[in-house]
Amino acid sequence: MTAQDIVKSFAFISLERAELLIKYNDLVMEKNKVMNLTGIKDLQESMIKNIYDSLTVYDKKYFPEQGRILDLGTGAGFPGVVLAILRPDMQVVLMDAIRKKLSFIQEAVELLCLRNVEVVHSRAEDAAIQPVYRDAFDVVTARAVKSLPVISEWALPFVKKGGFFAAMKGPGAETELGESQSILHCMHASVDAVKELTLPSGEQRAILYIKKNGVTPTRFPRKAGEAERHPIK
Ligand code: SAM
Repeated sequence: MTAQDIVKSFAFISLERAELLIKYNDLVMEKNKVMNLTGIKDLQESMIKNIYDSLTVYDKKYFPEQGRILDLGTGAGFPGVVLAILRPDMQVVLMDAIRKKLSFIQEAVELLCLRNVEVVHSRAEDAAIQPVYRDAFDVVTARAVKSLPVISEWALPFVKKGGFFAAMKGPGAETELGESQSILHCMHASVDAVKELTLPSGEQRAILYIKKNGVTPTRFPRKAGEAERHPIK
């Protein structure tokens, strides 16, 4: 997949930004030879399953001008770094509980001269109770982090009232959504849209755009590990 292929697939991206995405993919694959950043080892496969897949979450409606994005459980920077490249006007916080991958991201964003990225080493449950992060983001993204009931409890406290949580899911999204009705109700959140798509490699994906309609009750998120042990279903 070349920069031109990316531009053809996604009308919203310029050739210059597509070239930066290719550079980021090259950096991830190079580093992946010496540390475990992603299970995908092949450059072209990573272009589709990491870069292309990350771009699918983008929809202008949910990413306002000059807004703030949080990518929760960013890992090797997916989809967060991709969104930061796509939207230099937006401030992007990349959060993960594991420091090792964040050090790589920090080096990579400096190499690519991305000035709109902040890297934060924290568990979601700890950061979400800090005033600087709570109710602070227009949109929170999370790909392949936890099941929807768990990740909703972690992500929604970060979202501003009226903002969105974009959960990137695989083929089981409908079932997960069914299991998330209680937590979404408790969090004053509702599904705004579901985008279903197929990657060029054939895998099914679903993106759930969840709107935060009211202030998150102060008891959420529960203390670290609690949502995973006892998800609200
Ligand atoms: N989003 C990336 C992607 O799609 O390639 C990484 C996915 S990886 C399977 C899940 C990531 O979530 C890991 O990097 C892990 O450290 C992070 N994570 C898990 N629990 C977390 C928590 N409580 N707070 C913050 N990050 C967490």
